[in-house]
Amino acid sequence: MSKNITGATDKYLQRFLNGVEKRNQNEPEFIQAVSEVAESIFPYIADKPIYHEMQILERMAEPDRVVMFRVPWTDDEGNIRNQRGYRVQFNSSIGPYKGGLRFHPSVNLSVLKFLGFEQTFKNSLTGLPMGGGKGGSDFNPKGKSDNEVMRFCQSFMTELYRHIGEDTDIPAGDIGVGAREIGFLFGQYKRIENRFVGVLTGKGMAFGGSKIRTEATGYGTVYFMQNMLEHVSDGFKDKTVVVSGSGNVASYAVQKVNDLGGKAVTLSDSSGFIHDPDGIDQEKLDFVLDLKNVRRGRISEYADKYKSATFHEGRPWGVKCDIALPCATQNEINGDEAKTLVDNGCMGIAEGANMPTDLTGIGVFQNAGILYAPSKAANAGGVAVSGLEMSQNSARIAWDEEELDQRLKGIMKGIHDSCVQYGQQDDRVDYLAGANIAGFIKVAEAMLSYGHT
Ligand code: NDP
Repeated sequence: MSKNITGATDKYLQRFLNGVEKRNQNEPEFIQAVSEVAESIFPYIADKPIYHEMQILERMAEPDRVVMFRVPWTDDEGNIRNQRGYRVQFNSSIGPYKGGLRFHPSVNLSVLKFLGFEQTFKNSLTGLPMGGGKGGSDFNPKGKSDNEVMRFCQSFMTELYRHIGEDTDIPAGDIGVGAREIGFLFGQYKRIENRFVGVLTGKGMAFGGSKIRTEATGYGTVYFMQNMLEHVSDGFKDKTVVVSGSGNVASYAVQKVNDLGGKAVTLSDSSGFIHDPDGIDQEKLDFVLDLKNVRRGRISEYADKYKSATFHEGRPWGVKCDIALPCATQNEINGDEAKTLVDNGCMGIAEGANMPTDLTGIGVFQNAGILYAPSKAANAGGVAVSGLEMSQNSARIAWDEEELDQRLKGIMKGIHDSCVQYGQQDDRVDYLAGANIAGFIKVAEAMLSYGHT
């Protein structure tokens, strides 16, 4: 790129970011997500004036609409409680809004806008016709009885149902929203609408769910890492892998690492992490799945049960490893932690969680030249199989596990290859730029076709 173009690009980028910051004050996560994408897109569109003229990125950084609503519910003691519910319908240029629901006390508009923005690019990368959306509530399911969770979900859906539909907006799970919550939500939707349609994904197998959906995000993250390793003639065999989180994504990432011959040695939750140098094998993982999904306990109990393991406060990034898979939450790797990983010889990061690395941390990985897969590419397997669940629901069919796993692998390989196509630099692949540009192109083309909408 010539010096003039570079100078002009920096100027446009700065002007764009200033505008985003001004319009979205007090939304740090959203500004962070938009900045990370814009830094890749502005150089790409520098010599494509149509994108500037049509204000494509400016429009992409504004949700189509945001719905906010009151969610009253009654706890087991008979007290009336009040939560805030949201659905951010971010961009429907290439398909109906699609993205999960998060129930966590940290949920606010900034978090859901960042997730909805990211989702738009991620869904585009899958190659399936899905737009981007995200929703949720500041409700905390932790410590609540099943009946309390049910009453909350029913109240949440009593408002949400009018904003969603199988061809409009199809939510799924995310942090705090697993099989139990999806069941309660779907039951209430069906009751209000008197229609049995695929309006949610991640459903139970008895009522329209898809095989592999539960496993898809974790498996897909590991498949993406495997693709990156194969691209540099390497593989998972005998690699030590540090994983954060102990929920849906983390658990199935560990399972797939084991399948491919690697050794996962950590899991975490918001209280701390366990380190098991012997590896977390299937028997230990079954204990974790029961602990988290049935008994709803803390990961520290793992170290009480398995003497090979120790429990520590904080995050697991100080444990020496070859590969790191952050699978808990946003901004869980800062600059110092990224540096520790690199200094300890970590050669690859694939983000199972959404935006787990902050902007400084990303800079550390990029400068070190190690394999770094951003979340919108690495964790797209979950929404990809959600897209396949939608197809199965529409066609009233059910594919078997093998077929779905093959499709998942194919989609993750396709995303990998798109990142290589748009991120290839002299001697390495910039997966961050590749994912951002590849995700952008399809949405931008659709928006150009629609004119000023
Ligand atoms: P779960 O609720 O199943 O598990 C979340 C895990 O992360 C728990 O171990 C939880 O610990 C931990 N965690 C959550 N918040 C924090 C925090 N603030 N600090 C430390 N630990 C925390 O969620 P998922 O596994 O579904 O989601 C994990 C990540 O993956 C999220 O970023 C999500 O957006 C992303 N993702 C999920 C997809 C899916 O299909 N489920 C699809 C694509 C991305 P604790 O129990 O103590 O809170």
